[in-house]
Amino acid sequence: MDDVALFDDAAFRVEPAMAEPVGKLSAGRRRTQRQSQALTARVHPLGLALGRTLRLHPDAPPADDRQAPGPRCGSCWYRQVLGYHGRSYAKCTADDGSRVSHGAGTDVRAWWPGCVDHSPGDTSLSPDAARHIPDPAEVTA
Ligand code: SF4
Repeated sequence: MDDVALFDDAAFRVEPAMAEPVGKLSAGRRRTQRQSQALTARVHPLGLALGRTLRLHPDAPPADDRQAPGPRCGSCWYRQVLGYHGRSYAKCTADDGSRVSHGAGTDVRAWWPGCVDHSPGDTSLSPDAARHIPDPAEVTA
């Protein structure tokens, strides 16, 4: 049987809408995605900016549970909030400061599971006191 129109339906036709082009993600969003993928793979996200694999602490909490106990960057002595041009940036000062850059890629989130270098420091001391490394000439026997 032929497909014969009963009437002219041209006035009632609706063309399907074109799919919206997927907007490009900002550099920050792409970085966050890569960091999330790193955590899913159980490696520390800071390693992405350092160009090397930075292993998580063996007791690091799962990345998908921000309330779970365990070593996190936020409880690590090496995570320091540094000032620059009137703003503050949380950076990892381990490895003699080689993990610090002016880029957002080295910003360290407090909730991130800690890396193998996590150190709670001496919690009985102020951060400044805990950071102090005495000059051998100052130490008396
Ligand atoms: S050393 Fe501390 S602050 Fe730095 S990445 Fe490891 S856990 Fe985070």
